Amino acid sequence: MSRDWQPAAGSGDPAGPYWAAAAQRRLEIQRCSGCAAWIHFPEDACPRCGCADLRFEAVSGRGVIDTYTVIHRAFAPEAAGEVPYAAGFIELEEQAGLRVFADVVGADPGAIRIGMPVEVTFTERHQWGLVPSFRPRTGWADLDSKCDEVMG
Ligand SMILES: [Zn+2]
Repeated sequence: MSRDWQPAAGSGDPAGPYWAAAAQRRLEIQRCSGCAAWIHFPEDACPRCGCADLRFEAVSGRGVIDTYTVIHRAFAPEAAGEVPYAAGFIELEEQAGLRVFADVVGADPGAIRIGMPVEVTFTERHQWGLVPSFRPRTGWADLDSKCDEVMG
């Protein structure tokens, strides 16, 4: 399995540990040792305080859809069977404005909404290996149908 597009951990790319954790089904986000801010996309130094002592820590994997788009034309031939699919920015609950870009799985693209509660899962992608994806949190569909009942 080729992972040419993913920087290897320790290659000097600040995103290396993010992908290395994903390959082991963990969502880890860079965090500043100086001011405790979560940082994503990964940086060489903290954008808030300038501290260069940055580490990766596990996060809850829970968040909400901040914005998204639906892709109807595959950008690679091997993804032709996957369209349409949704991808977008997920705001993680750890910090306001902490957003991860990922695809949204486990929901019809037409049912996805901004503000929808989601949780991380990991999806095997052709030539990419395991990548973080997000799916609606359990209970979302139930909530939706209850609203329908109330609204008549
Ligand atoms: Zn900082």
